Amino acid sequence: MRIEQDLKLGFKDVLFRPKRSNLKSRSQVELTRDFTFKHSGRQWSGVPVIAANMDSVGSFKMGKVLAEHGCLTAIHKHYTVADWAAFVAESETKTLNNVMVSTGTSDADFQKTQDIMALSDEFVFICIDIANGYSEHLVEYVQRVRAAFPDKVISAGNVVTGDMVEELILAGADIVKVGIGPGSVCTTRVKTGVGYPQLSAIIECADAAHGLGGRIIGDGGCSCAGDVSKAFGGGADFVMLGGMLAGHTESGGEVIEQDGKQFMKFYGMSSESAMAKHSGGVAKYRAAEGKTVLLPFRGTVNDTISDILGGVRSTCTYVGAAQLKELTKRTTFIRVQEQENNVFGKE
Ligand code: 5GP
Repeated sequence: MRIEQDLKLGFKDVLFRPKRSNLKSRSQVELTRDFTFKHSGRQWSGVPVIAANMDSVGSFKMGKVLAEHGCLTAIHKHYTVADWAAFVAESETKTLNNVMVSTGTSDADFQKTQDIMALSDEFVFICIDIANGYSEHLVEYVQRVRAAFPDKVISAGNVVTGDMVEELILAGADIVKVGIGPGSVCTTRVKTGVGYPQLSAIIECADAAHGLGGRIIGDGGCSCAGDVSKAFGGGADFVMLGGMLAGHTESGGEVIEQDGKQFMKFYGMSSESAMAKHSGGVAKYRAAEGKTVLLPFRGTVNDTISDILGGVRSTCTYVGAAQLKELTKRTTFIRVQEQENNVFGKE
C-alpha cells in the first residue's frame, strides 16, 4: 500500500487571481476555439462546452439548441438508429457537426455506431464512454473504432490520470474524457471509494494529453459558471456538463407537477432509474453508482447556456484573456478555504 501525500484539488479549493487587463468589456472575449485533431486531422471550430451524454441531458433537442450557441452535445446512446435517421433528415449541417455519437464498447455498440455514422458524412465526433476507462478492453475498442473511422474525431474515457490519457491517445483517441466520481448524480466515490478531485485530474491529464498533441474534456463536477471557467483555466480543452444543463425543456425528461410547482427528474446513467429504463433493472453483480433527483423545472436552456458563457467571458476579462484559448496561460489559482458568501442562501 502507498499513500500519495500531495493534496489534490477540486473546484471549491481554488479561485482565480485577478490580473491587469486591457479588456474593457466581456463582449471583447472570443469563446470560439479552432481545433485540429491529432489522429483524424479534422478541424472543428466552436465553443467547447458539451452537454453530457445522459438521457436526461444529451437529447436531440439539446443538440439543436446548443449548436445555435456554437456548443456541442454528446447525444446519449439510447436512441435507435431509426431515431437518428429522423434526426439527420430534419437537421442542418451545423447541428450534425456539433453532436457527438455516444457509444459503449460491446460488439452491438460497434455495429450501431457504424449504422449511425453511415447516415451522414456531416458527423464529426464519436464519444466512446465507459465508467471505468482503465479497462484494457477500452484501449482495444479505441483501436478498432480508429481503424473503422480514420477521419472522425474520437473521444474516449473516462480516466483521471496521465498514464491512461497517454495510452488512450496512443491507441487512437483525439480527445480523452476526464472525470471519475465528480458528477452531480454520481455515487461512485460513496459506493467504491474511488475518485480524483476534478481540478487536479484536469490539470494532470491536460498536461499528459497536450504533450502528445491530444485534447481533454473535463467531465463532471461543475456546479456553476465559475467552475466551468476553472476547468478551462486548469487546461481542459472542452468542458462537459450534466446537472447544469438538466431540468430544461430540451433535457428530455417529463415535467412533474408537485404542490403547484414544476420539477424534472434527473438521474445518473448508472442509477437504478437508468438501469430500470434501459436494462430492465440493476444486474445482481453490480450496485447502482448514480442517484435520481428532482430538479425545479427551468424552462428553455437558452438562458442557462447564455449565463454560463457570460460567466466564462467575465472570467477571461478578470485575468486578461482576450480568447478562451489564452485562459489557461493567464490562470493563477489561489488555494482558498472559502468560496461565495451564502448568508442569504445560495443562488
Ligand atoms: P455533472 O456535470 O452533472 O456534475 O456530471 C456529469 C457527468 O457525470 C457525466 O458526463 C458522466 O461522466 C457522469 N455520470 C453520469 N451519470 C453517472 C452515474 O450514474 N454514475 C457516475 N459515477 N457518473 C455518472
